[in-house]
Amino acid sequence: MNSPFVDIHTHTPRSDCNLIQIVNLNLGQPCPEQGLYSYGIHPWAMDKASFQLEEALELLEERLQLQNVLALGETGLDRMHKDTFEKQIVVFERQIELSEVLQKPMILHDVKSHNEILALRKKHKAKQPWILHGFNGTEQDIQQLTGQGLYLSVGESLLYSERKITKSLKKTPLDMLFLETDMTKIGIEKIYEAAAKLLEVDLSTLQTRIFSNFVRIIEHASRHCEEVRRSNPENRLHPWTASFLAVTQSDDKKPI
Ligand SMILES: [Zn+2]
Repeated sequence: MNSPFVDIHTHTPRSDCNLIQIVNLNLGQPCPEQGLYSYGIHPWAMDKASFQLEEALELLEERLQLQNVLALGETGLDRMHKDTFEKQIVVFERQIELSEVLQKPMILHDVKSHNEILALRKKHKAKQPWILHGFNGTEQDIQQLTGQGLYLSVGESLLYSERKITKSLKKTPLDMLFLETDMTKIGIEKIYEAAAKLLEVDLSTLQTRIFSNFVRIIEHASRHCEEVRRSNPENRLHPWTASFLAVTQSDDKKPI
């Protein structure tokens, strides 16, 4: 049996038992009972004069306590929004602290800010996995970022031969890679197919590898893992698959 597809960052919920997705929600949106989610303070939030940091952090902390909120994100730094860059750093640092205390991985928006992000990871001695989403960099970027333990998530850029990532993807260690749909309406399956071709691996191998990356990064997030394992000794599905399929299905099954 193939491992399910994993869409590590999307804005479009889809019900499919062969798909695990982390759906990004705005802080103001309540968390549905079914499905897996992420909440964070995006660097663009600081463009709004009405932005209230303490209020936003309080709400974020509340959202992150929920069992099916698997990651803090998206957050990060965007140098193109240079007027708020200093403030973005302050807000990002507060979220690093939250991610470490609550043991939730982070999904990061990074525009021309690799160096700052790596420096802050060091400064805070962060242990949680960090995933740079929408990655489209060179071989050197890949070496620098994965060398410092960051995961890379790649999306629809893989479908356009002029994008840097179509040349550099093969340099990404398979155990540091994720795939995502983000805002695109293109299915995650198409992105997996394009990645498998560029990586010269078969699709089912890629599914297995990315699924095991997923299991690894969210080990911290799902404290109920051991209970699932114990309560389902005969379950032939991988316990993670079983629990995630249960929470991602939209029928009336209770989340495990
Ligand atoms: Zn996004």
